[in-house]
Amino acid sequence: MAVRSVFDVGEITREFENAGIDTHFIASIWKHVIQNPTSPSLDGVPSLPSKAYELLRSKFTPLTSSLASVAESMDLSTTKLLIRLQNGASVETVIMRYDTRLGKYDGQPRPGGQRSTLCVSSQVGCKMGCKFCATGSMGFKSNLSSGEIVEQLVHASRFSRIRNVVFMGMGEPLNNYSSVVKAIQVMTGYPIQLSPKRITVSTVGIIHAINKLQDDIPNVNLAVSLHAPSQEIRTQIMPAGRAFPIEKLMDALLAYQKKSEQSIFIEYIMLDGVNDQEQHAHQLGKLIQVLKVVINLIPFNPIGGLSSYKSSTEENVKSFQKILRGTYNIRTTIRQQMGQDISGACGQLVVNLSEQRSVGSASLLSDIEDICI
Ligand code: SF4
Repeated sequence: MAVRSVFDVGEITREFENAGIDTHFIASIWKHVIQNPTSPSLDGVPSLPSKAYELLRSKFTPLTSSLASVAESMDLSTTKLLIRLQNGASVETVIMRYDTRLGKYDGQPRPGGQRSTLCVSSQVGCKMGCKFCATGSMGFKSNLSSGEIVEQLVHASRFSRIRNVVFMGMGEPLNNYSSVVKAIQVMTGYPIQLSPKRITVSTVGIIHAINKLQDDIPNVNLAVSLHAPSQEIRTQIMPAGRAFPIEKLMDALLAYQKKSEQSIFIEYIMLDGVNDQEQHAHQLGKLIQVLKVVINLIPFNPIGGLSSYKSSTEENVKSFQKILRGTYNIRTTIRQQMGQDISGACGQLVVNLSEQRSVGSASLLSDIEDICI
């Protein structure tokens, strides 16, 4: 039977309640594990009632996952962690730093930068099958538990002080809705206490889940991987788009925005000759201008033989941005590319092993991917 993580908030809360133990003690257990990520011991948590120790010993473990390897980009902007789950599968989590005034990694935990963002995975693989995405080519393997999602943050905290979390790694977060909601509840509660405004959930547009997201986790940011200005182009590159027609998706986003003050992030991957022409920019502008959004244009990262798509030229990306800004007055950014030398940038599947370093005694492993789409 799978061992449960203390960060599986539903399970630990239920067990404490059943045993008549005050659930307020759970936060001090999390605090202890976060402060001792390399050698957490549940017996070392201070000041718990004795029956809590017994319960923890018999039913929980501090961390169900382990850090298998780490790769760091030459410019120190990106650190990619390969996390081994208890079922033997692996996921990646990627730390992106926007302040690179940091010393070189020397085998010790790195002092955190001021603006570290963690890109977490929510599933092993993904069933949405987006054609430009390496994860999509793997198919769906399994959902992560809420504990396994939070544990990515615990492991990453050894390397940086995490200020922001984006659910843009492997998997479609809203296809693992309940674990993602619970993980965010842990991340925003004591002792982690991230502001919900610093958490972004990215989705291809699972309409029924978008409809309840704002009620379940108020004030988190929503990012929508739109990637196309029309249903026709969208279903060519994102087969799952058939189940969530673009018009209905826009209706859901309008309804979402009525309940939220925040801008919605629209993610748009720039694929040469597919969705990056001037007419596409105009289609997109007309479609989106009714919403309060920030559009993020993402230069496509070629993923070797796994994709027939090519990156848009820099000129095309810039003129696309100019149309959205100039004609439609839409805030439009171009995503900064980070960590390409370790394939820690968007949509990349790392297929070579030579660029990784080990952490401690962990062996070097074949990478999976980080998409951060
Ligand atoms: S882009 Fe996201 S939703 Fe699409 S296949 Fe990749 S991980 Fe899944």
